[in-house]
Amino acid sequence: DKGLEKSKENFFGKLSKAVAGKSKVDDEVLDDLEEVLVASDVGVKTTIKIIDRIEARVAKDKYLGTSELDVILREEIAGLLSESGSGEQEELTIASKKPYVIMVVGVNGVGKTTTIGKLAHQFKSQGKKVVLGAGDTFRAAAIDQLQIWADRVDVPIIKQKMGSDPASVAFDTVQSGVKMDADVVIIDTAGRLHNKVNLMNELSKIKRVMQKVIPDAPHEVLLVLDGSTGQNAFEQAKQFTAATEVTSLAVTKLDGTAKGGVVIGISDQFKIPVKYIGVGEGIEDLQIFNKIEFVDSFFK
Ligand code: GDP
Repeated sequence: DKGLEKSKENFFGKLSKAVAGKSKVDDEVLDDLEEVLVASDVGVKTTIKIIDRIEARVAKDKYLGTSELDVILREEIAGLLSESGSGEQEELTIASKKPYVIMVVGVNGVGKTTTIGKLAHQFKSQGKKVVLGAGDTFRAAAIDQLQIWADRVDVPIIKQKMGSDPASVAFDTVQSGVKMDADVVIIDTAGRLHNKVNLMNELSKIKRVMQKVIPDAPHEVLLVLDGSTGQNAFEQAKQFTAATEVTSLAVTKLDGTAKGGVVIGISDQFKIPVKYIGVGEGIEDLQIFNKIEFVDSFFK
């Protein structure tokens, strides 16, 4: 895993420093651990939760050696990820609907288009028929970029001219998906973070219109977050979850950050499973989130 290499060295390095020369987990070690977790972008709330759980274990067992801290932390982090379903289920259950409609949301620049391209490639490699919808009609570049990915992966794309109604593109895409007997329809949406009400209205309209074709669509609302942006990623998760019902997360650019902790914090705070992680710019650089691998890489 080239991608996760950096996150792990850093967290483990800092953790080792925090416990260096100490045999017992005491208040000082816990304070240091708290700092390390926050510095790794785990987020304050989730950090406090982890520290509280470890404190409780120390209190119960009366003594905790620093040599065991590593194992216990892994357990607690894996436990937190499980509680929000992250890494519990292998991948999206696309076989449950035909076509399975995925609406992809997120702010510009987080890697939304790239993630859609990589996903289309994964599904296509599994022999699935994929249709893309260029629902980010506010930027010409967004439509062009998605077209490039559609060509690269060799899947059809439904688009209209820049400035057209995203809901209309979504309608066309879902309708084409049905006509083409597609297995998966992946629809891009605009990534402008204007005010909450506008975002909410825009996303609800897209949903409402696609539901004229498939009443229970979208089957998945995938929020893409840039894992290297720490606090911003938390803020974006807050805004999007307030605007629409987000069902799963993709956290990108974990290859470029020393702080993979954002995965732990966001999954915990928003109780939404992380389904995918982005570990590079290439077509293959999207991994189905694996809790065990992630925790291992965080500590190694
Ligand atoms: P969008 O505006 O959200 O659609 O973002 P793009 O998909 O255009 O991606 C923005 C930039 O981030 C591009 O240069 C991508 O190659 C890059 N990118 C996307 N995902 C990843 C990732 O997982 N790792 C790295 N290193 N770069 C990524």
